[in-house]
Amino acid sequence: MRKKIVAGNWKMNKVFSEAETLITEIADALDEVELINTEVVLCPPALYLEMATDVAYESNFKVGAQNVYPADSGAFTGEISPLMLKALNVSYCIIGHSERRKYFKESHDFLLQKIDALLKHDIRPIFCCGELLPERESNQHFAVVKKQVEESLFHLGVDAFSKVVVAYEPVWAIGTGVNASKEQAQEMHAYIRQLIAGKYDVETAENTTILYGGSCNGKNALELFSQPDVDGGLIGGASLKAEEFMQIVSSL
Ligand code: PEP
Repeated sequence: MRKKIVAGNWKMNKVFSEAETLITEIADALDEVELINTEVVLCPPALYLEMATDVAYESNFKVGAQNVYPADSGAFTGEISPLMLKALNVSYCIIGHSERRKYFKESHDFLLQKIDALLKHDIRPIFCCGELLPERESNQHFAVVKKQVEESLFHLGVDAFSKVVVAYEPVWAIGTGVNASKEQAQEMHAYIRQLIAGKYDVETAENTTILYGGSCNGKNALELFSQPDVDGGLIGGASLKAEEFMQIVSSL
């Protein structure tokens, strides 16, 4: 049975003391719930990964990074390597987020390199894909997502692919307060699963965790997560408050 995941993408928010408070609040709340076949992943800014993995060691969540550079070491000023993440016990890393595609011009090929670099160190990529509003309005959304998935993931062999988590994040829904409807989410998730079945096999597709992201919150999570192909969420804004984040976790 595929794993359900709720991952919090904190983006570039919180100073250290605030991050510590939020992590502690979530860790305490997680102590009170039983997670069955479910993983909670917190992705704070890189500066706080060590603190987060220290707390996670005695708690019920895993830690993810928001970015990585695809080399083990070298002259890449300001970057962080998968080897460094691994040494801190980081388990996941977000790749292909629309903000990185947009502001940092990350290409399909660069994302492919990041995926390979993470998998080499047994860190699970959370691979984001999703269309812009004009692409949906012109009915290109399936083609856009297909290309993103094919170009950055489908070079992988089946064993490597089985470590990947996919996150469908329609760009028009990220940070806008306008989430995809449950029907739109289900339709795209089923489509992605079908792509995976076509490239690999039905079993691999059935075992792939596909998250929804984009204005998912305490109010709409239950409805979105009730869809058969929606296996949890990648949560931005609503992951910054412990109570609301836990409401989302309880919606799985
Ligand atoms: C995100 O950035 O991955 C995201 C889903 O953001 P939000 O939940 O704020 O729309």
